[in-house]
Formats: sequence, C-alpha cells, structure tokens
Amino acid sequence: MRASRGEKHISGAERLLEYSLLEDATSVMLKRALNHVRGKAEKICFKLQPVPSRQVSKRNLLNLTTFEVADWPQGRALAAQLIGNLGVKSSIVQEAMAQLAGGPSPAGEAMRGAMLVSTETGQRLEPDKTRGVRVSRMDLDKDAGQRVEALLTDMGLNNPRVIEAWTLASKVALYPQVVAALCWSDDPDYITGYVASAQNGNQRVIRLKEAGSEIGGRIFFVRPGGDLNDLISHLQYEPVLFDAPSH
Ligand code: AMP
Repeated sequence: MRASRGEKHISGAERLLEYSLLEDATSVMLKRALNHVRGKAEKICFKLQPVPSRQVSKRNLLNLTTFEVADWPQGRALAAQLIGNLGVKSSIVQEAMAQLAGGPSPAGEAMRGAMLVSTETGQRLEPDKTRGVRVSRMDLDKDAGQRVEALLTDMGLNNPRVIEAWTLASKVALYPQVVAALCWSDDPDYITGYVASAQNGNQRVIRLKEAGSEIGGRIFFVRPGGDLNDLISHLQYEPVLFDAPSH
C-alpha cells in the first residue's frame, strides 16, 4: 500500500500473506492510510501480486536489543558509533546521516524508500532519489506469530510497528552487500529508530529524532564490489517469511 497527498509521501506498507488473509490486511492498511499523523491521504494505491509459495524462503529474525539514551542527539551519536563499529568510515556515516536529517529527497522531504550509500565513496547509489528503494515481500511466517508476539510482549514491545520494522531490517540484513541499515521514522510522534546488521542484529535506539519532526527515512550502507541491480532486485522482490530469532 502506498498513500500520498500531492507529492508528499504519507504512508506505505507491505505484506506477504496467504490469500485468505488479504481482505483483513488490506482493510487495516486502508485505515492506516486514512488516519495518518502525516496527513490525510488523497491517493491510496494497492498493488497485489501473486508469489508462488515455492519461491518463498524462511529465515530467522535478527536478535533485537534496545539502547536507552537521554535525548536524540545522544541517540544519533550512538547510532553513528554502532555503524562505525561495523567498519564504515565516520565521515561517510556523518554525511549520510546529515542528508537523512535534512530530508533525503531532492525537495528536502522524506522519501518513500531507502537511501543506498556506498561505504567506499559515501555516494548515493539509489537510481531514483525521489523514491528511494522500497523493500517489499517480507512478513512473519504465520506459524511464528505467537512465538514472536510472546517475545515482544516480554520486552513490552508487542505492536505492529515494531514487527514491521523488525521484519524489514531482518530482510535487508540478509544481503552481504549491506553492511548496516539505519532508520528513524517519518511519523512525527515516533522517535525510536535502529541500526541493523547481520553482525550485531537489530539495535533499537530509543530516541533518534526530535518529536514533531516529519523527516525520517532509511539508509542502507552498501559495500563496494557487488552487483547493485541484483541487490535492489532482491530487496524489492525476494519473498521471505521470518520466524523468531534463532538464539
Ligand atoms: P516508517 O518506519 O514506516 O516510519 O518509515 C520511515 C522511512 O523509512 C520512510 O519515510 C521511508 O523513507 C523509509 N521506508 C519505509 N518503509 C520502507 C520500505 N519498505 N523500504 C524502504 N524504505 C522504507
């Protein structure tokens, strides 16, 4: 689902579901688009595509940890450090974060998708700088729902927003070309974000932006050497269902 008002991105969501669940899921998405804190959607597009079940792979979610910080500047400094721990040069992290904070689209607004940033040159790699790259075709495995919800309930985090962000982060971290993903929301009332990587899991940072700000987004830090088109195609189209973390 993709909802917008003029050029402004309001909301998006993607699911990977059995046919029997389509009606309920689309109705939840429609409600979300119609009652969004970023504004009332004028245009709402649904795209439904069949995915043969034999193409769907099953993986485990990343481990989930949460870091407390006093305020968003401290959160950003911590996020930069977490990405730096994965070997990305500090100047590249700082520049990419500044672009995200300033509104990564050419109009200085949030994009629908993610920025791709080279860990070698710091350059933006996504072909469409207005749209970004939108990760799709991921969800919880239907047999995993209860296990995952029980885990999240123990952490006091059982809500759809956390589940969606967690599955997205876990899919992105599957690709060895991605060193790390950084995210903070474009919802003005949601200030928690995360750094995710195959190496260190999904590291939530409790405050990553100022309350009230509508500028958010995702950065995928991409190491050189791989085939970029192939990575983008996997991010967009490879269907993956997730179970709870393996340990
Ligand atoms: P959200 O976490 O839904 O508040 O989204 C925050 C930002 O992350 C959005 O403004 C987009 O730039 C980006 N984003 C959201 N969903 C996706 C997705 N499926 N794939 C890539 N980027 C996304």
